[in-house]
Amino acid sequence: MYIPTIGLEIHMIVKTKTKMFCSCPNSFEDGNPNINVCPVCLAHPGTIPVANEEAIRAVVRLGLALNGAIATTSHFDRKSYFYPDLPKGYQISQYDEPFVSHGMLHGIRITRVHLEEDAGRLLHDIAGKKADATYVDYNRAGSPLMELVTEPDIKNADEAVAFAKELQRIVRYLGISDADMEKGQMRVEANISISKKSGELGTKVEVKNINSFRAVHDAILFELQRQEEVLESGGTIHQETRGWNDVKRITESQRSKESAHDYRYFPEPDLAPIDLSSWDIEGMKRGLPELPEAKRDRLVVQYGLSKDLVELLIDQPEWANYFENAVSELRTEEKDPNIVLLANYLTSDLKGLMNVKNVGFDQLKITPENFADLVRLVDDGKLSSRLAKDILVKMFETGEDPEVIMREGGIRVIGGEEELMPVIEEILSKNPKAIEDFKKGKMNSIQFLVGQGMARTKGQASPDILKVLFEKKLSE
Ligand code: ZN
Ligand code: MN
Repeated sequence: MYIPTIGLEIHMIVKTKTKMFCSCPNSFEDGNPNINVCPVCLAHPGTIPVANEEAIRAVVRLGLALNGAIATTSHFDRKSYFYPDLPKGYQISQYDEPFVSHGMLHGIRITRVHLEEDAGRLLHDIAGKKADATYVDYNRAGSPLMELVTEPDIKNADEAVAFAKELQRIVRYLGISDADMEKGQMRVEANISISKKSGELGTKVEVKNINSFRAVHDAILFELQRQEEVLESGGTIHQETRGWNDVKRITESQRSKESAHDYRYFPEPDLAPIDLSSWDIEGMKRGLPELPEAKRDRLVVQYGLSKDLVELLIDQPEWANYFENAVSELRTEEKDPNIVLLANYLTSDLKGLMNVKNVGFDQLKITPENFADLVRLVDDGKLSSRLAKDILVKMFETGEDPEVIMREGGIRVIGGEEELMPVIEEILSKNPKAIEDFKKGKMNSIQFLVGQGMARTKGQASPDILKVLFEKKLSE
């Protein structure tokens, strides 16, 4: 048996208006290549970088959210390496004085969070086709990038995924990064080793090029398995960088790992050290929004929801906000069963519609008030759950009040015994076989009859009431 040791290095692009060291727009996903560039981010001789305070504030806020220590003084360093999409031939990063150190998340120690600049992008394909040459787009060169490094406290692939997902939620709650892995706004690297004895570390392999949560999971599993097979067959693990091949689902050797001295770090001479001692760090801490962990605990206690339901609600801050706005419209007591009904409609039906139609909260036409009204109509028995689904679709399209949709569509629930009994009697007279089956104790015969009743009333009756009435009539 081998004991795995895993640490993560996670880069996330900071959502700022401008780039890290110049005033170019921090935008690289839409439009043409090489439009958001200037002499500073293209590294023309004689240009001088100016640090973006908005990006520094973002990293400090992340540090506070992770219960880290915020540096009182900090500075940037040059990290030398050659890459065609890195025009300077070095990256401005941080070495010995990161803005944040000693944080904690999910019981995993965070070594540091520092700030640096991103590189541009090499394009090997144009419009989905392999190009005749490699092109370079510098729109992303100089975008602010946060790098978070953990201690090797992670024990398995699931823990690594849970950590990365929670970090993504936190930066989204803070509004400092969209952290979309598919768009390259969040990039995960894993340092992986295995050993026979606990406390003893094996040779570390760094896995790069991980572009989804699924890849985080599968790359770690693959690499643990590969290292075990190498050791079991008498081989040795080499310290190296491997890349995750998302098509072949394997890690492949890229190069032997550099050590820190290869980068020849030295303090960036064009930027003054940064003095944070005058910043109101306590005030920034008080100004943090409610974070996922606190929201999770509060929603379970305050509304009596299950942990699974709460997990769906807190995944994006917009879901939890919408939920709580709708709950306040219910004007009900806390822990009311209506709240569970509302949470279920929200996380299954509405979420489903929004996913299928690719509609975000900024385009959603249903107000929390109208959503709460729909739930109330179901609870009052004025709307069957089947009709509620149809009404919800109309509300989604038009944003109209559910009662208006019902009135205009002539939709109502047929619930009274005097109204339903003739329907019941008619169905029974046409289905003697079902009556016979019922008398023999075949319970699915009642389901069949209820189905006939729903069809006959065009879904305007409640299946529960139909069932009661059929049973009543049949046992007469
Ligand atoms: Zn620029
Ligand atoms: Mn980095």
